[in-house]
Amino acid sequence: MESVPTALPPLVDPFGRRVSYLRLSVTDRCDFRCAYCMAEDVQFLPKRDVLSLEELEQIARAFVSMGVTKIRVTGGEPLVRRNVMQLFTGLGGLLGRGLGELTVTTNGSQLERMASPLFAAGVRRVNVSLDTLKPERFRALTRRGDLSPVLAGLQAARNAGLKVKINTVALKGFNEDELEDLVLWAGAQKLDLTFIEVMPMGELPAGTRLAQFLPLTEVQARLGARFQLTPIAKDTGGPSRYWRVAETGCDIGLIAPMTENFCGSCNRVRLTCTGTLYPCLGKTSARELRPALRGEKAGTNLEAEIRSAIADKPKGHEFALHLADASRFDASRSDETCANETAIARAMHTTGG
Ligand code: SAM
Ligand code: SF4
Repeated sequence: MESVPTALPPLVDPFGRRVSYLRLSVTDRCDFRCAYCMAEDVQFLPKRDVLSLEELEQIARAFVSMGVTKIRVTGGEPLVRRNVMQLFTGLGGLLGRGLGELTVTTNGSQLERMASPLFAAGVRRVNVSLDTLKPERFRALTRRGDLSPVLAGLQAARNAGLKVKINTVALKGFNEDELEDLVLWAGAQKLDLTFIEVMPMGELPAGTRLAQFLPLTEVQARLGARFQLTPIAKDTGGPSRYWRVAETGCDIGLIAPMTENFCGSCNRVRLTCTGTLYPCLGKTSARELRPALRGEKAGTNLEAEIRSAIADKPKGHEFALHLADASRFDASRSDETCANETAIARAMHTTGG
């Protein structure tokens, strides 16, 4: 068994927020091409640019030694990375030794075979992304995925003892007619469900984003008309707000990064699979950690690099200021207008959203 990470002073940003949550992207690759996330002909990164599993674990261990208590493994699709269980097993070894929770966000395609190994590694909760219960729609949205292995994966996850939460991106004109059905379906399975407002990610054809955008205020109003919703307090330090659905007894969450600001309590940072650390999603400020692991500068103090990145964590993101403005979704924007957004989109893509 690897040694316990030495406890170092915690990571606290200039605004007094303690960083306790790392979102760790382990690949940019995916077996799906969800229309809101990736172009169909997406070019994946050269393998040499992607951190090895050992490098990812080294960085994760450094974060845990500085007080990170929760790690979410994401992607791309994390469960398609070759030998990814090696990383889960390594990180699972930190549970109870600084790390409090190890979770994963997945499209569910590989869950049927991976659920039990994930549980054995110490994972207890998984987020599974599912935007529709209609097989043809699922195929159209993911451009290549099948719904049935995902549903089988959900069942396997529950059989293995994993607690499953469903993430659903609310998409105008696509699944807006299914939102109530999704709430009922999740309720019948006793699964919590979170709706996510679509964000300007991925390099998509002009006009697509405007066409996809469905404000969660609208989702909430619709669900409120159909179900009895009671707000509940769940402080995850994140952007979700939660309601209990009286009719099902389950909770629904709404994540509206575009129309709400949740920065005051932000406790999280993101690492891309290439080793870029983003202290804030909505800012382009970033630190490259890969040089601290490889090449000439290998041996540079990883801890110092991480602390220095956290010192740049801004007070708030700029999404709400700039991107909730409907004009930013205008297909007629110039390339220049898109430049910052594209940088954010790239970051989002490799950090797992
Ligand atoms: N492949 C995994 C999955 O789909 O769950 C993990 C990575 S995926 C990028 C993480 C989450 O981001 C998923 O729940 C996905 O639905 C969400 N996501 C991707 N693109 C998005 C977008 N443009 N707006 C909002 N959420 C998005
Ligand atoms: Fe793949 Fe997840 Fe993006 Fe869909 S949302 S293309 S499953 S990374």
